[in-house]
Amino acid sequence: MRYISTRGDAPILEFDEVLLAGLAADGGLYVPETWPHFDADQFRALRGLSYAETAIRIMTPFLGGRIEDTAFEGLVHDAYAGFDHAAVAPLRQLDANLWLMELFHGPTLAFKDIALQLLGRLFDHVLTRRGERVTIVGATSGDTGSAAIEACRDRDSIDVFILHPHGRVSEVQRRQMTTVTAANIHNIAVEGSFDDCQDLVKAMFADRGFRDELRLSAVNSINWARIMAQIVYYVQAAVALGAPDRPVGFAVPTGNFGNVYAGYAARQMGLPVAELVIGSNRNDILTRFIETGIMEMSDVELSLSPSMDIQVSSNFERLLFDICGREGRAVMDTMIEFRRTGTLTVPQGGMKPIRALFGGYRMDDDQTLSTIVSEYRAHGALLDPHTVIGVGAARAKARYPATPIVALATAHPAKFPDAVERATGIRPALPPRLADLLTRDEQYAVLPNDLEAVKAHVRAGATMEGAA
Ligand SMILES: *Cc1c(COP(=O)(O)O)cnc(C)c1O
Repeated sequence: MRYISTRGDAPILEFDEVLLAGLAADGGLYVPETWPHFDADQFRALRGLSYAETAIRIMTPFLGGRIEDTAFEGLVHDAYAGFDHAAVAPLRQLDANLWLMELFHGPTLAFKDIALQLLGRLFDHVLTRRGERVTIVGATSGDTGSAAIEACRDRDSIDVFILHPHGRVSEVQRRQMTTVTAANIHNIAVEGSFDDCQDLVKAMFADRGFRDELRLSAVNSINWARIMAQIVYYVQAAVALGAPDRPVGFAVPTGNFGNVYAGYAARQMGLPVAELVIGSNRNDILTRFIETGIMEMSDVELSLSPSMDIQVSSNFERLLFDICGREGRAVMDTMIEFRRTGTLTVPQGGMKPIRALFGGYRMDDDQTLSTIVSEYRAHGALLDPHTVIGVGAARAKARYPATPIVALATAHPAKFPDAVERATGIRPALPPRLADLLTRDEQYAVLPNDLEAVKAHVRAGATMEGAA
């Protein structure tokens, strides 16, 4: 198994190289050269396996022999041992054919933990074997930063610097980052906005000397290994509900298209996925695209579901690659045109296969709040403002009444307590493990919005001795 760029003009890489590379050199995203295929008996053989065992079977073909079997098995078991629920991603029935898959039982209470808990361990394993180190830098408005910090804490070959806008993230989100006191974790509160933080990170990557000196790296949502790890729960849920002998649909609260693309990947591997319903908030670029066939950029507006407040869904390029018949040149032209004009259309005939599999549904903030209430009344479950959009999308748009549909619960309600309380009057409690979060000691540096100051801080804190 090797990996090719969606824009067709970057070196072909092996799994461990793709893991560390992130974006391809031609600006594209890496995808498998061919999709591994599971037949019906291979899916049936997953029945009754634990989450970790399923994960090992599903992911092994993607490694192309670049991580030894026993090492990989150890990493997978270790990654999921720390989840609060023994099933890792348990299903909860909401209605005759509607299920909720809870993806929020990891350390930071959001679905990103499922991929990042494995990714941190894979990074460390590959780097240690090579005798290398990296410095991960990232900007966060909340969710991704804490998931990356939890994934990389105490890993010997990684230093992590996460920039957040000082005083502009919620207290729970800040504390999920700043109370991690591992020696390799460095939180920086920048006196500026989230955009300022992002600009600082971009500027550090753009400074070649600095980038090479510190071996800068990222764990952002375009990393192939994150997609790979997310395929697992689609398979696990579908098999539990009768696949491969019965198709199953999914409804997915969507931002960068990484999560729902993993559902598409599962289908490419042979899983009978009946449909994928995309849920969006008022930042509805994807839903509009499915309705009109035109993808049109607009400004980001803040909503109650901040992790879905996006302008462009970067992982869509991976789907576009298949729609373009895996012709990198066509993807390159389409993406350059998109950047230039702010508008994207797929090649002739491309919308038909997209609409055959994907649906789209949007919910504004008022609907989000009222649906949190109606779902709570219907079955007693408190849903967070992201998850409820997936459930609403499943209820409104499911095309096959006789087919089970699984709505993905991407965050724990206690991660977004204000919206849940505003809707229902009930403030969801943090799990016992995090009950003392609000009284733990915090550690972070407050720095001015100044590139040189941030670079000096990173240089001083990174452990580069032992670097190859
Ligand atoms: C990141 C995130 C999403 C969006 O997932 P994508 O893979 O970017 O589409 C949805 N909900 C929550 C809670 C998230 O943290």
